[in-house]
Amino acid sequence: MKNDCLFCAIAAGEIPSSKVYEDELCYAFYDIAPQAPVHFLVIPKDHIGSVAEVDGQNSAVVAHIFEVIARVARELGLESYRVVSNIGEQAGQSVHHLHFHVLSGRDMTWPPG
Ligand code: AMP
Repeated sequence: MKNDCLFCAIAAGEIPSSKVYEDELCYAFYDIAPQAPVHFLVIPKDHIGSVAEVDGQNSAVVAHIFEVIARVARELGLESYRVVSNIGEQAGQSVHHLHFHVLSGRDMTWPPG
């Protein structure tokens, strides 16, 4: 757990969140400022700063998170959804703990803004 990391604190239950799913490796919770009718985040419990910090030592959790996204989306009945991860400030990353946004329930534009 990294000191002063918001998502480490959420994964540890120190800051309240609206849980969607949890297991020993990852935690999923609804975004506090939803950008679609369904908008949740999936994070690894261990601190990884962003996709840019994924390497051979920690990448297994990323595969696991994608399995979880598929399962949770199925359970929520989502037929179409978008998975997004922002890396760095210019791309819009505001929390420096790896997270995958899962957005669904409205038409999406492409390319994203
Ligand atoms: P990003 O801007 O891609 O780094 O995504 C961070 C996301 O975290 C944003 O969509 C925020 O709305 C969301 N967020 C920030 N604080 C919280 C919180 N306490 N609980 C749930 N979501 C949060």
